[in-house]
Amino acid sequence: MILRAGKFYDSEGNLVPLEFGNKEQIKLMNEERSRVDCFTGDGLPVSIDIDERVVYDFQIRFKCICGKQIYRDYESEESDDFEGILKREFFCSECTRGYTAEIDPDDTEGALIRLKK
Ligand SMILES: [Zn+2]
Repeated sequence: MILRAGKFYDSEGNLVPLEFGNKEQIKLMNEERSRVDCFTGDGLPVSIDIDERVVYDFQIRFKCICGKQIYRDYESEESDDFEGILKREFFCSECTRGYTAEIDPDDTEGALIRLKK
């Protein structure tokens, strides 16, 4: 049985009427009360879960024909996820020129930037 928004429900979610002297209902109400007391008093103690997660931040920066620096980055949990950064839009905020990026066949960790036609 669970207590939700002041009403009792069985494990299938059916409403269970309040029954005077029902030990399970009294126990649930006491638990609810002590939980509320925590929130309004000393505070409810909870644990902080820490998930260790590695994020690789792929970055490309180059100078536009007009001289303005263009910078894009892309975060991935995979160290070899180059597709994500290459698919980014490379537009110059100054002169609006667009560029494309693709893998440099001569450099596995490099890209070739070309002016968009
Ligand atoms: Zn530009």
